[in-house]
Amino acid sequence: MNIMKPKGKKKKPAAPKKKVAPEQDSEVTSINPPMPEDDADEDSSAVRQMLSKQNKKKKKSGGFQSMGLDASVLRGVLKCGYRVPTPIQRKAIPLALEGRDVVAMARTGSGKTAAFLVPLFQRLKARSARAGARALVLSPTKELAVQTRKFCLQLGRFTGLRTACVLGGESMERQFALMHENPDIVIATPGRFVHVCVEMGLKLDSVEYVVFDEADRLFEMGFGEQLREILGRLPGARQTLLFSATLPKLLVEFARAGLSDPTLVRLDVETKIPETLRLAFLRCRPEARPHALLHLLERVVPRDQQAVVFCATRHHVEYLQSLLQGAGEAVGGSTYIYSHLDPAARKINAAKFAAKKSRVI
Ligand code: AMP
Repeated sequence: MNIMKPKGKKKKPAAPKKKVAPEQDSEVTSINPPMPEDDADEDSSAVRQMLSKQNKKKKKSGGFQSMGLDASVLRGVLKCGYRVPTPIQRKAIPLALEGRDVVAMARTGSGKTAAFLVPLFQRLKARSARAGARALVLSPTKELAVQTRKFCLQLGRFTGLRTACVLGGESMERQFALMHENPDIVIATPGRFVHVCVEMGLKLDSVEYVVFDEADRLFEMGFGEQLREILGRLPGARQTLLFSATLPKLLVEFARAGLSDPTLVRLDVETKIPETLRLAFLRCRPEARPHALLHLLERVVPRDQQAVVFCATRHHVEYLQSLLQGAGEAVGGSTYIYSHLDPAARKINAAKFAAKKSRVI
């Protein structure tokens, strides 16, 4: 188990939202509602301003406005409140906009989702009812896929592009129907996507933009075979982006085979932990670990700070949870989540921690 102990100010607890369930867990399958044509509101004049700035000082700032984005894309970025690109966005978006294949080393929280969605929107531009999806995003887990779709809806709201999720668990019929509706973008977990492709005889000829998101986890979760199967179905003339926190040898080989002369985007800063965190390695006998954890929570982590504890399996989670509950006020309340937990309970528990009703998750 690891303890990430915030040293300085409280940080948004990023982990629970992305420590996610395997695709077999359950499912969500959905397609966007048609794009709202309303929002021609407060932000449109801001977009006009940004666009005119873009024309005036094209290459100067390195901001979103200097990337040459269409108004519909820039407006979505602005609506999300993004003003300055994150480092990974600053490096990866221009390369992707040039049509290059990109291997980007980026962690959750780096802004990687927008780094591949912004060029995706710019490339697809607008809804096309012509048969076949033009963009495919592969995610290791259902929850990451759902989150990516949420980003798609928010960031791409002014493009009118339609997005479908093809995830493990839901009825195949529903997913066939979704694919028949000709989404522009498909966000999928690999196992179910291959299944749908095989059953529907999908050729994927129309796909021109592919993203392997959290590619190291895709492989860790054993999707290697499915990924190769998908690669085999994709047309040669496509743009491929691969995002991964780490680049093990297997992944480098996969990138060599599946990407065409990719540019590696790697930020040194990405390998460092944030200044607000302290990292420590504690050595103790295996049977003493629960005691060590209790000691840390009771005596070392300041009372006004929360703690996130990661465990290997849900059984470990349940064991520690009962232990921490037993410790009562000495620990300051604990809650827990894991992928097989009922989704409603998972939400409630995560919310408890986010609202600081539990000190430990
Ligand atoms: P991600 O690494 O894609 O999961 O993004 C982490 C968080 O950063 C998300 O909440 C995004 O909405 C947010 N984010 C991404 N890009 C930007 C940006 N340029 N400015 C501010 N927030 C951003």
